[in-house]
Amino acid sequence: MTSVVIVGSGFTGFECARGLQRRLRRHHSDVKVTIISPIDYMLYTPLLPDVAGGLVDGRFVTVPLAGTLPGVRAIRGRVETIDLSGHTLRYLDPEDRSHEVAWDRLVLTPGSVTRLFDIPGLATYARGLKSVAEALYLRDHFLEQLELASIDDDPAVAAGRRTVVVVGASYSGTELVVQLRALADAAAKQMDFDPASVRFVLMDLAEQVMPEVGEKLGKAAMGVLRARGIEVRLGLTLKEVHADHVVLSDDSRLDTRTVAWVTGVTAAPLIETLGLPTEKGRLTVGRDLRVPGHPEVFSAGDAAAVPDLTQPGKITPPTAQHAVRQGKALARNVAAGLGYGTPKDYRHRNMGLVVDLGPRYAVANPLNIALSGFPAKVVTRAYHLQAIPRAVNRWAVGLAWLTDLMFPRTVVSMGLSTQEDAQFAASEGIPMPKAD
Ligand SMILES: Cc1cc2nc3c(=O)[nH]c(=O)nc-3n(C[C@H](O)[C@H](O)[C@H](O)COP(=O)(O)OP(=O)(O)OC[C@H]3O[C@@H](n4cnc5c(N)ncnc54)[C@H](O)[C@@H]3O)c2cc1C
Repeated sequence: MTSVVIVGSGFTGFECARGLQRRLRRHHSDVKVTIISPIDYMLYTPLLPDVAGGLVDGRFVTVPLAGTLPGVRAIRGRVETIDLSGHTLRYLDPEDRSHEVAWDRLVLTPGSVTRLFDIPGLATYARGLKSVAEALYLRDHFLEQLELASIDDDPAVAAGRRTVVVVGASYSGTELVVQLRALADAAAKQMDFDPASVRFVLMDLAEQVMPEVGEKLGKAAMGVLRARGIEVRLGLTLKEVHADHVVLSDDSRLDTRTVAWVTGVTAAPLIETLGLPTEKGRLTVGRDLRVPGHPEVFSAGDAAAVPDLTQPGKITPPTAQHAVRQGKALARNVAAGLGYGTPKDYRHRNMGLVVDLGPRYAVANPLNIALSGFPAKVVTRAYHLQAIPRAVNRWAVGLAWLTDLMFPRTVVSMGLSTQEDAQFAASEGIPMPKAD
């Protein structure tokens, strides 16, 4: 029996598995589809800042593979090696046992991981925002620091506990800092301390916040950040990270115990083990999403350098918008390679971006129409509600937002994710840099 194996259950792998199975079912095909991923769900990453801010429950942003991919075999494991000529791969299950799987068609969608730099202490003390474990840890850790600050006798130590540093002022870093600000405001009211005593510093090497949304909306976002008392420091990054402070690239020191590193992503480590050509670290693919020289291997999403046919010479940016559409294109082209339907080149014009800036604010540029304030908030929330690929999740997220409008935000640190769970190595599968 012919076997298609999909590596990774993110936006791209999930959409590919769903679309492919539907196509195969329509043709009464007996081709076997398997998806292998270290997690048993597809993660709706755009709402991770809401999870970190205690607004949305972690479960609500996970779409389980069980029940949503009928007919697809889901295997829990991390693919370690791929034999391109022998058509096999090996994966490690959650108990670190190694297994071999044979494939006739291989779809590589392992996505991306946080891009780390050789900054002393970064991998040990900073946390990213690419997984539920990281989002939950940031919420719990930050609230715990606020609780500890209220019993600290030394005002300098308490001030450090009440300082949050977010590095990376693109949309995810900006959304994170405003959600943590909202959480701090709720905590201040309920725990009876001055919200202004909690300091937020959003930092980036770039000279603009959220360059993705253009200058006009970037300025609008900057206005919201300032109004919320968030310090924005541009042209700066981290030089060292310690347990209780950071040293900035201008050699100044900032006392803090909460550092979020959200500066961008790089292709999943699996990609560089293949020994195949890459562009900016992403696997080179053709316009039909096939890997050149390996017609039975496909790739797309954050892991792949997909040519952007709407902007010749460029590759598509690593966004969910492209990932979802590339997943659908993969389903079509893989099915076509098996004799069902015709293949098509991937082509998609950018539809704009929505950025939630916390209570009452957002910026968005749907179809290149610049929106800010309340209209942007409505568009942003409506967009997410239709984009989450499961009705139960849409319902739960919608109710969580409604609850937040009607009741004070729940301020609890449940310890669901430990420091170790949230380390880059454990939560994203990034090998630890030797410098640490
Ligand atoms: C906080 C945050 C907010 C974002 N907000 C937006 C937004 O508002 N709009 C937007 O367009 N984009 C947004 N993005 C970007 C978007 O999430 C990515 O572009 C998208 O997730 C890419 O999908 P993917 O399937 O290629 O990869 P991923 O979503 O990274 O999924 C990859 C999958 O592969 C698995 N995997 C990795 N390695 C292996 C392996 N060796 N073996 C097996 N499985 C493996 C992973 O566990 C994961 O399940 C955001 C990203 C983040 C982190």
